[in-house]
Amino acid sequence: MGINQATENYMEALAEIKPCPFCGGTEVVPSFRDFSAGRLVLLVCDGCDAEGPPVVFTDTDEDHRSLAAMEARRRWNIRKPE
Ligand SMILES: [Zn+2]
Repeated sequence: MGINQATENYMEALAEIKPCPFCGGTEVVPSFRDFSAGRLVLLVCDGCDAEGPPVVFTDTDEDHRSLAAMEARRRWNIRKPE
């Protein structure tokens, strides 16, 4: 998968993020974080700071970032309110 395709998929994934199941907010953004064993990305609601399930990745290549962000989005979208 090339960079352009990955970027396209990434933008598509962003467009498909479901509203926050806790507050209904639609400002849900990916957050990339460094931690001891690598990097992770998860989706965070700007309204109530709810966090989606994290996706760990170690490669800083843009394709990996995009794929990890898409997986984080997928996990966010299937999350149920607790
Ligand atoms: Zn929220």
